[in-house]
Amino acid sequence: MFFYRLPLFCFATLIATLWLGAEPTPATHEATHEERAAPDEPGITFNSVHVAGAYIAMTFDDGPSATLTPKLLDLLAAHHIKATFFVIGENVAEHPEIVARAAREGHEIGNHSWSHPNFGKMSDENVRRQLWRTDDAIKNATGKRPTLLRPPYGSITAREKRWIHHEFGYQIILWDVDPNDWKRPGPAVVHNRILQETRPGSIVLSHDIHPGTIEAMPSTLDALEAKGFKFVTVSELIRAATARPARSPAEAPGNVRAAVTPSPSPTSAPSGDQAQ
Ligand SMILES: [Zn+2]
Repeated sequence: MFFYRLPLFCFATLIATLWLGAEPTPATHEATHEERAAPDEPGITFNSVHVAGAYIAMTFDDGPSATLTPKLLDLLAAHHIKATFFVIGENVAEHPEIVARAAREGHEIGNHSWSHPNFGKMSDENVRRQLWRTDDAIKNATGKRPTLLRPPYGSITAREKRWIHHEFGYQIILWDVDPNDWKRPGPAVVHNRILQETRPGSIVLSHDIHPGTIEAMPSTLDALEAKGFKFVTVSELIRAATARPARSPAEAPGNVRAAVTPSPSPTSAPSGDQAQ
């Protein structure tokens, strides 16, 4: 599979250059560009999901962290909440026992690359290596291969989405709620942003490698629960997707079906900071 280095690299770069920058999805990290999900790719890419019910998915990226992830797992267990962890392969190799624990406790583990590069600017061969290494590390830690990918920075081209989905079977998971916690704005701000933006069907992005995020979680989870939200993994959220419009505006206005839902909020401007 490694002779697959394509002369398409330049082409891909061109495509990326053309499409990147038009992306409405909020950027988490530095130099984030993310192309708009093509409408002809339902079932591959998700920013959020239309559901009948107040289901949401909390997602935590870039771990596992030796100290913070176990803390978060304790908290999630106390709340009986299942979350989704998009892990970095390097960190999985370093702390497989933490990932094993997360999986054992019912959380979902997704691929977030081996070393957090920008897929939108890479050759297929290098992307493929990043994915396979991480896929293997997750399989070694949990006994199960992941079925979800979150590309670092949300950066991925439409062509990459297609071949990755074809080759790995991954669904590509982005987000619609971004508290920009990687900028370390403080726990109160993280809490408030998540509470303000979360809707039924939301996929909430945050990072279990920042102390402020972990500090924000007890009150954030309490408040989300008080608003009636129910927590599921990303795969469960996708499976809960409704097949037709819902009647109740109190549930999920405009429900149609599981489909791409580009985020409406081009909030964060790329900055010079690096997320990790
Ligand atoms: Zn990340």
